[in-house]
Amino acid sequence: MGKWTKKHYEKAPCAHCGGIGCCYCDKTGCVLVATPRRTCPHCGGVGCIYCGFTGWAGLKGKYD
Ligand SMILES: [Zn+2]
Ligand SMILES: [Zn+2]
Repeated sequence: MGKWTKKHYEKAPCAHCGGIGCCYCDKTGCVLVATPRRTCPHCGGVGCIYCGFTGWAGLKGKYD
């Protein structure tokens, strides 16, 4: 077991649907990302497979 570090998350608008809601953001229009939030370095915030099509790096759930 590694050291427990508490992460903070904030809501960010889903880049794939623009806030309307889609399968990538669980139909909420936004996603939880590690704060401070950063756009995905692979796509620049447009959405790609690395960010789960949300446009954000540090998505909650995938990497925690
Ligand atoms: Zn969405
Ligand atoms: Zn991306």
